[in-house]
Amino acid sequence: MAPVKVRATQTFPGPAWSELGRVEIAPADAPGPDVDVLVVMNEPVDLALYPALRLIANYSVGYDRIDVAAAHERGVAVTNTPGVLDGATADLAMALMLAARRGVATGDRLVRAGGWSGFVPGREVSGATLGIVGLGRIGSAVARRAAGFDMQVLPVRRSAGDLDDVLRAADIVTLHVPLSAETRGLISRERLALLKDGATLVNTARGGIVDEQALVDELVSGRITAGLDVFAHEARVPPALLDLPNVVLTPHIGSDTIETRGAMTRVVVDNVLAFVRGEALPNPV
Ligand code: NAP
Repeated sequence: MAPVKVRATQTFPGPAWSELGRVEIAPADAPGPDVDVLVVMNEPVDLALYPALRLIANYSVGYDRIDVAAAHERGVAVTNTPGVLDGATADLAMALMLAARRGVATGDRLVRAGGWSGFVPGREVSGATLGIVGLGRIGSAVARRAAGFDMQVLPVRRSAGDLDDVLRAADIVTLHVPLSAETRGLISRERLALLKDGATLVNTARGGIVDEQALVDELVSGRITAGLDVFAHEARVPPALLDLPNVVLTPHIGSDTIETRGAMTRVVVDNVLAFVRGEALPNPV
């Protein structure tokens, strides 16, 4: 068997990476006529640039920017990294809930500016009603954490829970569905209007799940608060949000801990090595 040529769009962290041996580092949009395996971080792949491609190993559980149907049609397998980032992403969702409702970022800015008093009171997290939209791996990890905060959980999945009822009833809504044709714009302007005054929306899933302009309008009005890790057109953050005290912003860091990023690399490497050995792929999508 001819040696397998592996390209990655960047070097990924952790000790497992070196097990791949020689890896070409190049952007996804550079022609790769002899590339067999491409490792990406949810970047789109133009298959016309990769006539020899047989595997796209995605360093992310979300693969919304990869055209999986087109890849499969061309006989190219796609893998992702489910499971190993649930705790880290659920932790960030909790951090954003706490930060947005308890004024952590605003208070930090106040203290740094030499201030102390004049703080606007926050809202309870303990005992709050929590809507979890997408009770999969990460949503379930959030539900387990919510139990420790004495929260009442209202879950929504395809087969259970009425999204509109949950939006009306919840003090906090946290999003954990994948971005797909089905979920793009799921949290529409009309649905955002269902949120209670003073409710908090947390998004660590994907920006495109929410009507971003409608969310900006709600936040500018001051009616709700939010904690946002993801945006519709990253790395662009709507400028209107930058000076608002009622939104906490993070730069898509849901899985970004040293431990989890290393574990994600382990999963990517295991998938590439399985492909090289002709074994079943552990995490096909
Ligand atoms: P998962 O285990 O596949 O869970 C997804 C859940 O969403 C499932 O329970 C599914 O319901 C539900 N769902 C799908 N479409 C729905 C719809 N239209 N209405 C209601 N529920 C729907 O996925 P996961 O591993 O938890 O990851 C979720 C997403 O988090 C990823 O796709 C990714 O975009 C995002 N993420 C972000 C970061 C970050 O850095 N911010 C890190 C990791 C992941 P059923 O049970 O009915 O199928």
